[in-house]
Amino acid sequence: MCQLFAFRTQLWYNMRMNTLSHPETTLKNAGVRVTTGRMAVLNTLAASPTPVTIKDILKATTHIKLDQVTVYRMLEAFRERGLVQMVNLEHDHSHWELTSHHHHAICEHCGKIVDISKCDLHKLEADIKKISGFIGIRRHSLEFFGLCATCGKKSRATQ
Ligand SMILES: [Zn+2]
Ligand SMILES: [Zn+2]
Ligand SMILES: [Zn+2]
Repeated sequence: MCQLFAFRTQLWYNMRMNTLSHPETTLKNAGVRVTTGRMAVLNTLAASPTPVTIKDILKATTHIKLDQVTVYRMLEAFRERGLVQMVNLEHDHSHWELTSHHHHAICEHCGKIVDISKCDLHKLEADIKKISGFIGIRRHSLEFFGLCATCGKKSRATQ
């Protein structure tokens, strides 16, 4: 199961288009060596409105010889440099997207993803620092699962 469609913010769109038009600059700025393969992987992420899987990347880059392990290593390297982040959609595989701090609301029925750019978790982070004794909390990721309006209406109608 991997039927996804997304409703994303304008800011997110601009960022993706920026990366698409200057993939070399994005890689260089992040301190990643520019190769055809890396540019192709980054472009696949930037071109997709939804978070992508390694399979999606392989499908979009058949013109270059990439395999699953190579793509995985590239994504890990990108992640270390802060270029991409993993999104947990609770599928049995990982999804990736360009880094930008936001959360997602995900419909468990149809796969609709809505970006939630509002984030009020600073107070919670401070509490967690106190409770855990951690020196700092570097990041958090949080997704919300439920039924979208369309699927909610349908399920009410059949009840
Ligand atoms: Zn999936
Ligand atoms: Zn839905
Ligand atoms: Zn947040």
